[in-house]
Amino acid sequence: SLSEKLQNVFKNLRGKGRLTEADVKAALKEVKIALLEADVNFKVVKNFVKSVQERAIGQDVMNGLNPGQMVIKIVNEELVSLMGSETTEIALMPGNQVTVIMMIGLQGAGKTTTAAKIAGKLKMKGRQPLLVACDIYRPAAIKQLEVNGEKQGVEVFSMGTNHSPVDIAKAAIEHAKNNGQNVVILDTAGRLQIDESMMQELVDVKEAAGVTQTLLVVDAMTGQEAVNVATTFNDRIGVDGVILTKLDGDTRGGAALSIRQVTGKPILYIGMGEKLSDLEQFYPDRMASRILGMGDVMSLIEKVEAQVDAEKAKEMEQKLRKASFDLNDYLDQMEQMKSMGGLSKIMEMLPGMGMNLNAKNMPDMDESEKQMEKIQAIIRSMTMKERTNPDIINASRKNRIAKGAGVDVVEVNRLLKQFDQSRKLMKQMPGMMGKQAKKGRFK
Ligand code: GDP
Ligand code: MG
Repeated sequence: SLSEKLQNVFKNLRGKGRLTEADVKAALKEVKIALLEADVNFKVVKNFVKSVQERAIGQDVMNGLNPGQMVIKIVNEELVSLMGSETTEIALMPGNQVTVIMMIGLQGAGKTTTAAKIAGKLKMKGRQPLLVACDIYRPAAIKQLEVNGEKQGVEVFSMGTNHSPVDIAKAAIEHAKNNGQNVVILDTAGRLQIDESMMQELVDVKEAAGVTQTLLVVDAMTGQEAVNVATTFNDRIGVDGVILTKLDGDTRGGAALSIRQVTGKPILYIGMGEKLSDLEQFYPDRMASRILGMGDVMSLIEKVEAQVDAEKAKEMEQKLRKASFDLNDYLDQMEQMKSMGGLSKIMEMLPGMGMNLNAKNMPDMDESEKQMEKIQAIIRSMTMKERTNPDIINASRKNRIAKGAGVDVVEVNRLLKQFDQSRKLMKQMPGMMGKQAKKGRFK
């Protein structure tokens, strides 16, 4: 799978001291193959790889990151920017003007289902939606919309199969105006393939009904084809936003990656199931993680870091066994871990902190981040002698350190006490550090 491939790439990079041009190229070659296998449009892949390469080569590996993490970071950032960086909402008309939404897409893409999903969402937001059955070619389609509308508690407007979609749309808008409904959602007919009469019908409805938002529904499982569909619909009818359905299946998300890039239109929502509640906001960063197959890129970075740090942890363990773990090591470890992200994980791993600051008594991350900075400031205000041998820190030294760090003496005392406790604790559990590091390893 794409996820495995990318993880393999990064496995190879992991632990390297420096990222050479050859490393970047080798890694990106794999990324390219993997993206193509995930049905990402060829041109999109080409551009993507190019921009990552341009950024990766000749850029310094950031402080606190190893070369492998740096590549992950760049790949992730480029994926996010490719998909539009931020979330986009359906544009609703201001005041009491009626918003007219037209759902378009191939047959089976999920228009009818998604129309009902959106109606439910808008209703929850305090809007008054009206669903309109403009698919006159399949009587079952009208029934389907009616069933879904009822489930959502949203009225469905239909005129059977004997009127044109244009007439139905116009009548529905009149109906909405007379009944205080301010969002009209037109569910249109699709075909199995793009064809001219379908396109013409949609153009006619769009014009006659004064559609304000044209939403294209695309089945994510169609892979490469999704891009062609999106391009054609956008060129012919004009699309304001895209909804990608069936992402709950085993799709590799290649369509999401391509559509925004090729059409320039934002993805608004993703369909995550057949149930009417299964419509989610589209988050480019989450989709990037999904495409990378890493769930959450930060946690991967943590894992990678944990692997790299395994040796350092071993060194620490040796020190602990010899009881030579001092405040320098404490500081060192804190800085190392700070660069990993994911504060709760870091807290868990820091000697002493994990015991004292678990989720319950750690109300917010800002607070613990401040706390961590405070601790660092305190240790930095100590002399080397004091750091290696905290026992010599008497009252006057404590005063000096507190002043230097800009904290109260109480805080210095607390740190020293905590450090002392954790050192004792760790002496009793000499295997701990090694185990902690191993836990974070790739399986
Ligand atoms: P339309 O022809 O474009 O109106 O498509 P429908 O709304 O009738 O949907 C076609 C099929 O896809 C139906 O069986 C839906 O239940 C299903 N479907 C729609 N959206 C999703 C989704 O996000 N996930 C899954 N698993 N199925 C979906
Ligand atoms: Mg339908």
